[in-house]
Amino acid sequence: MIRRTMVLLMAMCIWVAAVDLATQSAVTEGIRAAEIYERVSEFSSPAYEGRLTGTTGYARAARRAADLFREWGLAPLSEDYLQEFSVRYTEVRQASLTLRIQTESREEVIEGEYFSNFYPLNFSGHGTVAAPVVFAGYGLSAPEYGHDDYAGLAVTDKIVMIIKGAPPPREGEDWTVYDDHRFRTANARRHGAAGLLYIYRPVANPNGDHLENFPMVQISTEMADAVLKASGTSVEALKPLLNLRRNVSFVTKATADLAVQAERRLGTGYNVVAFLPGSDPERQKEAVVIGAHLDHTGAWPVLTPGADDNASGVAVVLAIARAMAQAGVRSPRSIVFVLFGGEEMGLLGSRRFAERPPAPIQKIHFVLNTDMVGAGPDIFVLGLKKDPRFELLANRVKDSLGLTCRLEGNERIGSSGADHGPFIEKGIPAVSVFSSGGDHHGYHTDQDTIYWITPRIMEDIGRLVAGCALELARGE
Ligand SMILES: [Zn+2]
Repeated sequence: MIRRTMVLLMAMCIWVAAVDLATQSAVTEGIRAAEIYERVSEFSSPAYEGRLTGTTGYARAARRAADLFREWGLAPLSEDYLQEFSVRYTEVRQASLTLRIQTESREEVIEGEYFSNFYPLNFSGHGTVAAPVVFAGYGLSAPEYGHDDYAGLAVTDKIVMIIKGAPPPREGEDWTVYDDHRFRTANARRHGAAGLLYIYRPVANPNGDHLENFPMVQISTEMADAVLKASGTSVEALKPLLNLRRNVSFVTKATADLAVQAERRLGTGYNVVAFLPGSDPERQKEAVVIGAHLDHTGAWPVLTPGADDNASGVAVVLAIARAMAQAGVRSPRSIVFVLFGGEEMGLLGSRRFAERPPAPIQKIHFVLNTDMVGAGPDIFVLGLKKDPRFELLANRVKDSLGLTCRLEGNERIGSSGADHGPFIEKGIPAVSVFSSGGDHHGYHTDQDTIYWITPRIMEDIGRLVAGCALELARGE
């Protein structure tokens, strides 16, 4: 009798495992590089205008993703697949910068070229100004630390040029509020400046505070060095002095013609949300979230396609959703697919979702976010080492899938940088998966195109994330 029961039990175990394995391999086999690649190509196409949250291009991309979820039979969480929020954004129609540098013998003129040596900040105010350029170090005023880059410097109606960065903190200091471009831009304005040259990578960046009638652009280190050279210095030479908290601010030998044509707008942002309801009446209220940000940096003034950032993650999430829907996945916990809006503006969509998940979700069990997964042979997971159980699980899934890529990660929790952040802040386990070891080409420029995308790694990441999600959704 005992033997017969045991045989029966063993048979049942094998049967249960076999069903799971069949579903799992149907999901894995269903996630294919070719489909993902096609989808990256679609979402990074000019039809979606660089997907800046709030714009019609973004809304078009969100509705397209919702249509795909519907077509594959995934359920909306509320009446609709779209979770709305309002958002302010800036259309920068055009920007120009001409530098005139007075050297001993002559006047050197440098014209700004988009992405090569300058680019407007995508939250810039509208304005035209011709004025002398004043160098103001890191652009920081931190009275409690006895530091002010503006001390003794008259910048009223001048164009201020500053470097990104802050001096290394001393015991008990916290510079995070100061080492932030929101502080830096406002501080320049507060001191009466008429415009700003921010020495940083000249790429698209919509994440900042709009300052009315205050034109702001990013310039390359080379362009800044051309200005500084006339005074016998350079960014490289000034940084160590700034780190020693020396005041090295001075009036340069350059003037600049700076113009930004910008218009502030109010629009609607969306998270696109679909799900596979869980099979367990209790556990189905718990969600394993598979996410990616749908938005990018728009088309003002130049189209930034965002193929790697983050049409790649979107395409991976969509491929997982389709494969799971078609394989008929019914796990005890619900699996929720979310395409976040507003990531590039400061994690707006994921913050909103973490704060107010749509109704049927009572608890978010785990978040697997994918971001910039289109370049390189390997995988890097932010937060992988925070929970040893998850690290173990991810490696086990990777091995069982026979993936040969490297899987690495760190312990980082922090809130900035990627959409797992707002969940971590709420105490919800979350990671962000990136591709690594390759060239994330053309980051936030017109060069982040389908041309540079590696299809294979997206398939690997899709399979790994799907495999982990199925394990996490088991309800154990
Ligand atoms: Zn980005």
